[in-house]
Amino acid sequence: MSSGVDAKSITIIAEYFPGDLSINYTSPYAGAYFSACIEESNLKYSSYTYENLPKLLKALGTGCGLGMVPSSEHVAEELDKEYIAKLSAFLKDFTVAKSEVPGAIMRVSYKAWVFNAPLLIQNLFNYLKGLGVQAHRKKLKSIDEAFDAETKAVFNCTGNGAATLEGVSDKKCYPTRGQVVVVSAPHINECVLLWTDTSTYIIKRPDSALHEVVLGGFYQGGNSDPNTYGDESKNILERTTRLFPKLLTENPLGTTLESLPVIRVVAGIRPTRQCGARIETETRNGGQIIVHNYGAGGEGYLCGLGMSHEAVQLAIS
Ligand SMILES: Cc1cc2nc3c(=O)[nH]c(=O)nc-3n(C[C@H](O)[C@H](O)[C@H](O)COP(=O)(O)OP(=O)(O)OC[C@H]3O[C@@H](n4cnc5c(N)ncnc54)[C@H](O)[C@@H]3O)c2cc1C
Repeated sequence: MSSGVDAKSITIIAEYFPGDLSINYTSPYAGAYFSACIEESNLKYSSYTYENLPKLLKALGTGCGLGMVPSSEHVAEELDKEYIAKLSAFLKDFTVAKSEVPGAIMRVSYKAWVFNAPLLIQNLFNYLKGLGVQAHRKKLKSIDEAFDAETKAVFNCTGNGAATLEGVSDKKCYPTRGQVVVVSAPHINECVLLWTDTSTYIIKRPDSALHEVVLGGFYQGGNSDPNTYGDESKNILERTTRLFPKLLTENPLGTTLESLPVIRVVAGIRPTRQCGARIETETRNGGQIIVHNYGAGGEGYLCGLGMSHEAVQLAIS
C-alpha cells in the first residue's frame, strides 16, 4: 500500500478529526459493515478493500476495530450469474441460497469485514501521526486554501463538504440520512441484513468492550436532519428483532424489546453523489494537482481502501 511518499510531507487539513462528533463528519456514525450487494461498478473498490484490509489490521494491530464475522445478506432481487461469479472470486466461505425471509428471494452468506467505526478511525489517525503525518484543524472556505507554493497535490476527501466547498461546489452531491440504534448484545457474533425497499441490518461491532451491535436503519435521500426520532428507533428495533429473533430469544437480560440495553441512538448523513463517487484529478496552473476522492455514499468503509488506492495511483501516474 506504500506510495513511496514521505509521511512527514503529508498534512491532513480538516474541520473535524477522529474523536469529534458533528453531523458534518459522517465517519464516526457508520455501522460499519462490508456488504457484498452493491452496485457492480463499485466491486473493483470493494474487492480491493476486502483483500487488502489484512494489511491494515497488521499495521494497526489486534484490537484496532477491524474484524471478520459470518454474515447473511437477504436480497429482494435475484443477483445475476456474472455478479455472483465475481463475488465468489474474493469472498471467504461464500454461498448463495434461497432466502427464507419474507420479501427476500436470495441469501448471500460469507465472512464479512466489520468495522468499529469510531475506534478504527481513531487508531488509524494515531498510526498516521506516529509515522509523521501532520494534522491541522481548519474549516476551508475554498479548496485553494489547501495549497501553498510547495504543495504538489491536494486530495479532496471532503465528503458532504464537497457540495459547498468553493472551487468544487459539486451539485451532484446530496445527503442521505440514516438513524441507528446501538445496543449491547454479547450473544450476537454475526451480521444479518435485509435489503428490500427498506434496509434492515444487524451489525456486530468488533473490539467493543460493551459488546455493541448496531441496528438499522434508514436511507433517506435529500435529508440532512441531525436529530434522532423515537418512532424511527422503535421501527428499527421491531424490524431487526423480526428479522433476527436471536437478538431477543438469547438475550441474557430477557426476551422483551425493553430488555435489550440501548447504548445510544445516532443519526448520520451519507455523502451520496448522483453517478457515484468522484475519483479523478484536476491540474491547476503551475502543475499542482487536485485528486478528488469523495461521494462514497453508504460505502465509505467497504470501498474506502480501493477508492484511496485508485486516487493515489492517479496522483503518481
Ligand atoms: C448511519 C450510517 C451507516 C453507515 N454504514 C456504513 C456501512 O455499514 N458500511 C460502509 O462502508 N459505510 C457506511 N456508511 C457510510 C460511511 O460512513 C461513509 O461513506 C464514510 O464515512 C464517508 O467518509 P468521508 O471521509 O468521505 O466523509 P466524512 O467522514 O464526512 O469526512 C469528511 C472530512 O472532510 C472534512 N471537511 C469537509 N468539508 C471541509 C471544509 N470545508 N474544510 C475543512 N474540512 C472539511 C470534515 O471535517 C471531515 O474530516 C454509513 C453511514 C451512515 C450515516
